[in-house]
Amino acid sequence: MNLIFLGAPGAGKGTQAEQVCNALNIPTISTGNIIREALKNGTEMGLKAKSFMDAGALVPDEIVIGIIQERLAKDDCKNGFILDGFPRTIPQAEALDRMGIVIDRVIDIDVADEVIAQRVSGRRVCSECGNSYHVEFRPSKVEGVCDACGGTLVQRKDDQPETVVARLKEYHEKTEPLKAFYEAQGKLKSVQGQAEIADTTKLVLEAVGAAE
Ligand code: AMP
Repeated sequence: MNLIFLGAPGAGKGTQAEQVCNALNIPTISTGNIIREALKNGTEMGLKAKSFMDAGALVPDEIVIGIIQERLAKDDCKNGFILDGFPRTIPQAEALDRMGIVIDRVIDIDVADEVIAQRVSGRRVCSECGNSYHVEFRPSKVEGVCDACGGTLVQRKDDQPETVVARLKEYHEKTEPLKAFYEAQGKLKSVQGQAEIADTTKLVLEAVGAAE
């Protein structure tokens, strides 16, 4: 099953993708994680993306389209995948079509902007593997240490309040129109993000058609 998870920054796409990819045994592909990894490794692509990312702006389409094309060509995507954070613009969605990628469903996780600000301020990510935590809603077993790999948990630079405002603006202007784009194709399912992660996961699995 080829899935897209849509939603504002901090709506819980990454966390839900982690839960659902385990249930369906398909990989999650996060363009944000790929860019952060490239940045850590000092690659040319990472350096090109850095200024956009730090400012809370979207990275230019041609860069992220190149990333996704390369990633989707890998063997582990043959039985399906979850795209977390791609597409974020109509041209990116059109690029998927041109690549001949057929999307089965698009899950939109809907969370109000006020709630986003609160969630994002408590978010922590693993500096090694990219796993995502929240100091209140999804704490790691040992404070500051990743459950999965033992890496150090940090706050993302772009999770600081001023940058979050810019990211939400980009979301409303450039990403939200994708809802109508996929609605017109009959692929959109909207889920109301819940306070408890597990409650949202239940709704997402139902929307995906994979609930027990
Ligand atoms: P995320 O981890 O998905 O919140 O992404 C973090 C940042 O990476 C975004 O704020 C953008 O600067 C950049 N980014 C990730 N995915 C995309 C995309 N599909 N299009 C443009 N920029 C992206």
